Amino acid sequence: MRLALLPGGSIYLDKGRAVTPGVDVGVRIHVPVWSALIETDDGRRIILDTGMHPDHIGHPDATYEGTKAEGLMPAVMTYSDLLPNRLQQMGVSTNSIDTVILSHLHWDHCGQTHLFPRATVYLRQDCLETWAKEVNPRVGKRDFLSAADTYKFLPDQEMAEIAPGVTVIHTPGHAVGHVSLIVMLPETGALLLPVDALPMRECVDGTSHGTGPDQTAWKVSRARLLRLAGERDATFFLSHDPDQWPRLRRAPHWYT
Ligand SMILES: [Zn+2]
Repeated sequence: MRLALLPGGSIYLDKGRAVTPGVDVGVRIHVPVWSALIETDDGRRIILDTGMHPDHIGHPDATYEGTKAEGLMPAVMTYSDLLPNRLQQMGVSTNSIDTVILSHLHWDHCGQTHLFPRATVYLRQDCLETWAKEVNPRVGKRDFLSAADTYKFLPDQEMAEIAPGVTVIHTPGHAVGHVSLIVMLPETGALLLPVDALPMRECVDGTSHGTGPDQTAWKVSRARLLRLAGERDATFFLSHDPDQWPRLRRAPHWYT
């Protein structure tokens, strides 16, 4: 089994407002967006999250234009950042991806799901149902609609192994039905991808008091992830950490 990190562009945002509540409010930072490709020993190819919609190429405010959030989170995206192009660089065809897992339905995590029409898309039912009731239907909805016929629901349990060595962890708080992933690699060991449950170092060390609307759920999810990381001696790959990201190995190179 092996895993590769696929760069998907970046976002400028207010650190304390968007990622680390309680820390550095008003500080503008530039964070990465990425997806993960996992190849299992039984030949499955799994993608975790599908990044931002292609509309953001040359159009930084494609999601939030005309909303209250206009101008707050401009995206930087090029053609190279499109998942099919990242995969092609690795000799992997888009059609060979059989599984897509969506951690949650925010705009920077599900925007290219429609580019994988042959894949089965997995997410939690409560995640989809909450998204369907979003106050602002424009945000996120457009990005996911065209794949909505192909989704399947993840089991409603704390942890679920969906392929040998690939386990989904229920980590709500940042969003209802948010999930994280832990992958057991033969040489690297355990890699924990908390996605937006723990997007930056301050969320892991507890300096920040949580991302998203439900801080009580977030605290439970954080404790769950830290306990699991301890049990499996796992390394965290953080979803939006501008300090860690440059130190990680990226596609076309693999973690094995
Ligand atoms: Zn995110």
